[in-house]
Amino acid sequence: MAELRSSASAHAAQVLRYYFYYSMAPILELRKLVKHFPGQQAVREISLVIPRGSFFSLLGPSGCGKTTTLRLIAGFEQPTSGDVLLNGEIVNQRQPYERNVSTVFQNYALFPHLTARANVEFGLKRHRATDIGRRVREVLELVGLTGKETRRPAQLSGGERQRVALARSLVLQPDVLLLDEPLAALDPKLRKQMRVELKALQRRAGVTFLLVTHDQEEALSMSDHLAVMNEGRIEQVGSPEDVYLRPRSRFVAGFLGAVNWISGAGIRPEAVRLLPAGEVTPGDATSGDATPDRRAPGVVTGSVFLGDCVQVLVRLHSGEDTVAQLPRRAALFQPGDPVQFTWSAADEMTFP
Ligand code: ATP
Repeated sequence: MAELRSSASAHAAQVLRYYFYYSMAPILELRKLVKHFPGQQAVREISLVIPRGSFFSLLGPSGCGKTTTLRLIAGFEQPTSGDVLLNGEIVNQRQPYERNVSTVFQNYALFPHLTARANVEFGLKRHRATDIGRRVREVLELVGLTGKETRRPAQLSGGERQRVALARSLVLQPDVLLLDEPLAALDPKLRKQMRVELKALQRRAGVTFLLVTHDQEEALSMSDHLAVMNEGRIEQVGSPEDVYLRPRSRFVAGFLGAVNWISGAGIRPEAVRLLPAGEVTPGDATSGDATPDRRAPGVVTGSVFLGDCVQVLVRLHSGEDTVAQLPRRAALFQPGDPVQFTWSAADEMTFP
């Protein structure tokens, strides 16, 4: 009897240990992941930890290895070396359907002859899931498609089709939802709207999202954390504020937004103030901005009206072509005007 009790408590301790480990281990981890194709090193030793429940993005230019990384996680590709861990377990040898991840593809890959509901049910039926009716109803409500269940993809808008694709993946209750440029097929206005929706949906669903994109605005606006990739490597991981305001390399600074390079320092266009030549810096105590303590003389060469702001182009006397992004009412400069291009030392980005 005593033996039985001690084996039961050993089992309970093991379950507890497992539960503790399971809930503490990162939901997804990449360890020194490498993928070579013939004549092409697509992924070069990537290590990453994706926190449970976060919205994480892989951001980088075309060809930097983002999609390959996603395919390695999903199991559509095998790594040349390194490991993919889900919930603390190495899953390199598992088939895609044996990994609890789901992928939303750029073109959504919906079945055109099936209704929204049938598209969402499809995966559940294949998994022989129970309680299909309730789960499908709940997920369609989660993505805001209640009332449109009987429509086929052709009878839905682009944004609604995208929501069917999301619902179809989410209904499988994946540990991680992989999204490969999910907004690329939408027009620019809808893209912006869907950014907000996608982030809100991730919060409501509580599922870890890993998004791949080459669009920096998309990554900055939706992510809790993002990794900036370049030529198969990760250049920086951090919050959107970290990577935008404190980039660790010239590449990251330039990829995340426009930069003026003046004597080796980077200055974002929105950190610049323009003054008429000869004017002393106005102390604007109310703006909260640092008072510009750097200046360079130049001449206005043109301007670009962007609706909510104006970009004024300035050629500095030192020869650099630069841009100042100003509020519309502050941009009363004409081509040929001599100006001082001013900024604060605190806004300079410098790299070794
Ligand atoms: P994009 O944003 O254009 O999709 P990406 O960052 O997702 O780019 P990948 O698709 O991961 O880039 O490709 C990384 C590199 O690996 C590219 O140079 C690509 O040509 C190469 N590559 C990808 N798949 C294969 C393959 N099956 N065989 C050979 N080379 C490949």
